Amino acid sequence: MKTSRSQKSEVRSQIFLFSVFCFLFSALCGCQNQRLYKETQVMMGTFVQVTSPEKSAAGIVFSEIKRIEDLLSKYNPDSEVSRLNKLGKLKVSPDTFYIIKKSKEFCEISDGAFDISVGPLVDLWGFTAQNYSIPKDEKIKNTLNLIGCDKIILKYNDNVVEFKTSGTKIDLGAIAKGYALDCAVNKLKERGIKNCLINAGGQVYALGEKFGLPWKVAIRNPRSLRLGEILALKDRSISTSGDYEQYFIKGNLRFCHILNPKTGYPADSGIVSVTVIAPSGLTADALSTAIFVLGKGKGIALAKKFPGTEVRIIEKKDVQNNR
Ligand code: FAD
Ligand code: MG
Repeated sequence: MKTSRSQKSEVRSQIFLFSVFCFLFSALCGCQNQRLYKETQVMMGTFVQVTSPEKSAAGIVFSEIKRIEDLLSKYNPDSEVSRLNKLGKLKVSPDTFYIIKKSKEFCEISDGAFDISVGPLVDLWGFTAQNYSIPKDEKIKNTLNLIGCDKIILKYNDNVVEFKTSGTKIDLGAIAKGYALDCAVNKLKERGIKNCLINAGGQVYALGEKFGLPWKVAIRNPRSLRLGEILALKDRSISTSGDYEQYFIKGNLRFCHILNPKTGYPADSGIVSVTVIAPSGLTADALSTAIFVLGKGKGIALAKKFPGTEVRIIEKKDVQNNR
């Protein structure tokens, strides 16, 4: 079996090194006297880079993202999400309750294309442990019995989340990075910081401006390390979901980490990469994953339900090497 890269971290570092999504123009426009502070930390399994004229911005962002990661990471056995997945029922914090509630809403509005209960399928295909394999049809069929947003019950009186089926597991990988950025931006605003760019492995939030002009962020070409369209952003988040970061190739086929919850197989909607620009990180993150599963037509129709949202889609037919 040929894997995309020997290590996911290698992919992540490529994303970082080539500024896949976030391409900062250096001192342009007569800003030579103005200074930007830039700091990077590995968090949520990726590089989180903070750029701001305020020195204190990075510390505020990192500590808020760490708080959210400690609650929501499936890679941390002590997180609320891991404990909920283990126990099948848990009283959770307001943050965890809120993001599960929002996830259920996205599941409904996307007709089940976005579904955080894909956890057992993500594990089955080996995307959690990076030990990829094509499961037997029978196993996929059995695992599908555990999947569905209706399996997640929310008890609003006491913030309890409960699964209907033993073995159901949630995976917030498609929404929690966006939410973490929203929380970090709220903290920055509370502390009076108006301008900051946060890039968490392709999930970006551009708060305010860079010396009076919008922040500039580039979308990566999905089949090369070249940068594509450059977007000018102010108070907007962008998120890209694609088939080129976490995937494996078997035979002549590419199997990526975004799964179709209805079939149990990797999504195969003809989309190679979808970028969503939205007022919040959570919406950009969840929508980009949902559109990747739905395909261009239904995906654009879904995005229209979210005011202030723009979408860029690259399909297989738009790229030369579409394997
Ligand atoms: P997105 O399209 O945003 O999300 C795809 C991911 O969502 C898939 O990998 C899968 O997990 C899930 N998913 C698949 N299909 C669907 C679907 N139809 N509906 C809903 N969800 C779906 N990675 C590490 O290697 N180590 C870590 O320690 C680690 N910690 C993390 C902590 C947090 C809080 C978060 C949010 C992520 C962490 N990650 C970690 C990364 C994570 O596992 C994924 O790689 C990442 O979130 C995928 O994001 P994306 O933007 O590439 O793709
Ligand atoms: Mg997403």
